[in-house]
Amino acid sequence: MQYFPVFLNAQNLDCLVVGAGEVAARKVELLAKTPATIRVVAPQACQTIQAMAEQGLLKWIQREFDPGDIQGQQLIFVATDNHQLNCDISTLAKAANIPVNVVDNTELCSFITPSIVDRDPLLVALSSSGTAPVLLRYLRQKLESILPARLSELAKFSDKFRDKVKAHFNNVNQRRHFWEDVIEGDIAETVLAGDNQQAEQLIEQKLQQDEQTEAGCVYLVGAGPGDPDLLTFKALRLMQKADLVVYDRLVSKPILELVRRDAEKIYVGKKASLHSVPQNEINQLLVDAAKQGKRVVRLKGGDPYIFGRGGEEAETLVEQGISFQVVPGITAATGASTYAGIPLTHRDHAQSVVFSTGHLKDGSIDLDWPALARQRQTMVFYMGLTGLNVISQQLIKHGVAADMPVAVVQSATTDKQQVVTGTLMDIQQKASEANIQPPALIIVGTVVSLREKIG
Ligand code: SAH
Repeated sequence: MQYFPVFLNAQNLDCLVVGAGEVAARKVELLAKTPATIRVVAPQACQTIQAMAEQGLLKWIQREFDPGDIQGQQLIFVATDNHQLNCDISTLAKAANIPVNVVDNTELCSFITPSIVDRDPLLVALSSSGTAPVLLRYLRQKLESILPARLSELAKFSDKFRDKVKAHFNNVNQRRHFWEDVIEGDIAETVLAGDNQQAEQLIEQKLQQDEQTEAGCVYLVGAGPGDPDLLTFKALRLMQKADLVVYDRLVSKPILELVRRDAEKIYVGKKASLHSVPQNEINQLLVDAAKQGKRVVRLKGGDPYIFGRGGEEAETLVEQGISFQVVPGITAATGASTYAGIPLTHRDHAQSVVFSTGHLKDGSIDLDWPALARQRQTMVFYMGLTGLNVISQQLIKHGVAADMPVAVVQSATTDKQQVVTGTLMDIQQKASEANIQPPALIIVGTVVSLREKIG
């Protein structure tokens, strides 16, 4: 990040603007929305600046710039059409450590001004660091259209009740939950509809109703196979409301980026060569946090109820009387299937699909092989990379053709996705030649041949 965003307090801020044409006027108009003291130096001024000077909104010093003008100034804007003068003022200001902005000349600037969406006291400031003005304008327009005009009223309303709510709750999380309910519910709608009086009554009522001790809860959330665009709306909403997020190895980095920035995050997956946190400890962690009143999101790769041990966590939560919800996610099989171009069922190929674990235990895999080896059925193996050879041998032994197509999909839906195809005979070798790493999913069946056409 080349530019560091800050909001300057304009109370007692002395600003100098050199130049008084239309370009300078745009800056001056913005500055005039704040309590900053504005001095404009220029021999001639446009209508807008003249009018503002007459209204006492700024002081116009009607002459050429003098180096002494920067004395005592805290912020300088330069907007003359004399390039050399612009350069000289920039140099002077930088030498005096005064932040300077030369309009439309990023190289001469020590700071740049963002594009803003103004719902004062709520301000959204946007910048592309000078790289993409059109994209920036597009984003600003989008934000302008989705942020209600009366949002500023809502911000003022929140400010009015801030101290009262703070005094009512002694716990930060409870206070935040209270405000989230207000913002997402009827009270905010009432303010946006312009009925502040009614909204004030509603918030007073809510303060009386809300118990001091709010119970926590746990959300078992499926984060999908990796691509953040495959999250559900519900998953995203809960991730942004969480006090605590407990996640494991399969949850991708871009997805973690979407978690509320201030939420506490606990990793319970395997670290290199270390073991993951045992399941009973994870269960206990969820229970303890919920009992402390926290909103806990247990974030899992794929779907929580497909080889995700979500069922065990749910059982513990029920036993401990903790309220919980489960949010389904796109499981690795469907993610891998679509992103690799392999439909799991197809009228000409497979009428059923089975999801199995291919986890090796003492060198073997305990599965109902005859049931798996049925004709016209696609088999998907989770956790099967280490056991790939055993899976292939067992399937051949139970009657599946040795040239049955197989695909191994690594890190499906992410930018590390890699797909290797082969047959039961050669897939092990091909996967190891391609250096396929976990997480990887194995798909066995004639549907794999469709990848050539639609993948
Ligand atoms: N609950 C998860 C599965 C957890 S078991 C789900 O519904 O997807 C872990 C196994 O899932 C891994 O060993 C691998 O076989 C598979 N897996 C998870 N994410 C994957 C991905 N992005 N690409 C390929 N396989 C994946």
